[in-house]
Amino acid sequence: MTKPEVIDLRSALEYLRTEPGELVETDVAVEPEAELSGVYRYVGAAGTVMRPTRLGPAMIFNNVKGYPGAKVAIGILSSRTRVAKLLGVAPNRLGFALRDSVNCPIQPVEIGQEGAACQEVVHLATDEGFDLRKLIPVPTNTPVDAGPYITLGMCYATHPDSKVSDITIHRICVQGKDELSIYFVPGSRHIGAMAERAEELGVPLPISISIGVDPAIEIAACFEPPTTPLGFNELSIAGALRNKPVELVKCLTVDECAIANAEYVIEGEIVPGVRVREDQNSNTGFAMPEFPGYTGPANPSLPVIRVKAVTHRKNPIMQTCIGPSEEHVNMAGIPTEASIIDMIEKAMPGRLQNVYSAAAGGGKYMVVIQFKKLGPADEGRQRQAALLAFSAFSELKHVFLVDEDVDPFDMNDVLWALNTRFQGDIDTIFIPGVRCHPLDPSESPEFSPSIREKGISCKTIFDCTVPYHLKSKFVRAQFMEVDPKTFLPDFE
Ligand code: MN
Repeated sequence: MTKPEVIDLRSALEYLRTEPGELVETDVAVEPEAELSGVYRYVGAAGTVMRPTRLGPAMIFNNVKGYPGAKVAIGILSSRTRVAKLLGVAPNRLGFALRDSVNCPIQPVEIGQEGAACQEVVHLATDEGFDLRKLIPVPTNTPVDAGPYITLGMCYATHPDSKVSDITIHRICVQGKDELSIYFVPGSRHIGAMAERAEELGVPLPISISIGVDPAIEIAACFEPPTTPLGFNELSIAGALRNKPVELVKCLTVDECAIANAEYVIEGEIVPGVRVREDQNSNTGFAMPEFPGYTGPANPSLPVIRVKAVTHRKNPIMQTCIGPSEEHVNMAGIPTEASIIDMIEKAMPGRLQNVYSAAAGGGKYMVVIQFKKLGPADEGRQRQAALLAFSAFSELKHVFLVDEDVDPFDMNDVLWALNTRFQGDIDTIFIPGVRCHPLDPSESPEFSPSIREKGISCKTIFDCTVPYHLKSKFVRAQFMEVDPKTFLPDFE
């Protein structure tokens, strides 16, 4: 595939305009509170979103009530085909391309403030009447959410001791005119570790939140350990994907950098020793719709970001996503595929054909591994590959193993393998009592006696591969090889 000339959100949108069916726009005025997400749920959210929904185009709302001159873009990455186009990689090779980028990273560079588009317009928190709620059209996804959420904020911070930097996407709720709350999944997120250390030292942690950037950055930011341990700046993966370093610029009010061509940058610091209740403004008890498809509970006690400045480009474009949409599947799932490919290939080269982090798992809970047994000694190695996948990505819950003649990206084909190459009593492998991702609502002691506390799961392998010695009995019905274009010239 040819690489499109994408360097930022605007060039990504320009490119999508040239691709049939990938982008729609509306000039009809939309309410950022609940209505905008309600519209996109029908247009293109897919993933684990309530039905009816569908895979569809990205969408731009050109007229957002209360925010003259600003636009909101949603669903840029909500189809795998669109992600593939934006990165110039075939859809079924995305995991491999990301794995290659992890292995030959290109570090970001710092440019001067005179060349930084994200600082074209500057609003300081010390300005008269500063209110970030009036500056940025942050959508509230459903009527019961704790508040407006920045769902695609690239959070960038630096460790107080080691000075290594990290980029990650976190759930950020707007709490006041210069205040945000930020949620770190306990024990596994790098900026969370930095904030903890700064708090121990009794100092604030400078942080920048860049919104509206090159999609390559949004995907790279979703890598997690062990593929990108603390100290691995994931911006270097985006650099490798584009074969061009990501450009950073010094913030104006805090000692940190931001992505120079972002649409918006929020500059601030995580305040030591301060916590807020996430739903202090709405009092609904809910946070926002999360990737498993449920509206998560509001957190009783979250760290606070004190905002120092909001900078943006002229006529800025706010970018957002719906938590449970296929956009999350791609952002979380494709890095997961890359991590699994890397680990299995290192351990047993040549067997792994492909990995798909399936939409039904939100990009985290479920993968399909396509595995080729090369000889009788490979019987059982497919299960070893599944165990490696759990190690490559700790929040993975279900692994489906299929043979080389099953399309791992086609869930009907995967379920065909489950129906004709699987017997429940011998091919289901349970690994109870393992820590997983805390947003799965079935992970509770009330749900299952094997679960001691929230966040623990029974990980399960569904081995839908044919035992090697029986392979000759499992040949799919073969059809004559023909060229359908002879009969239908437009056939693709
Ligand atoms: Mn990291």
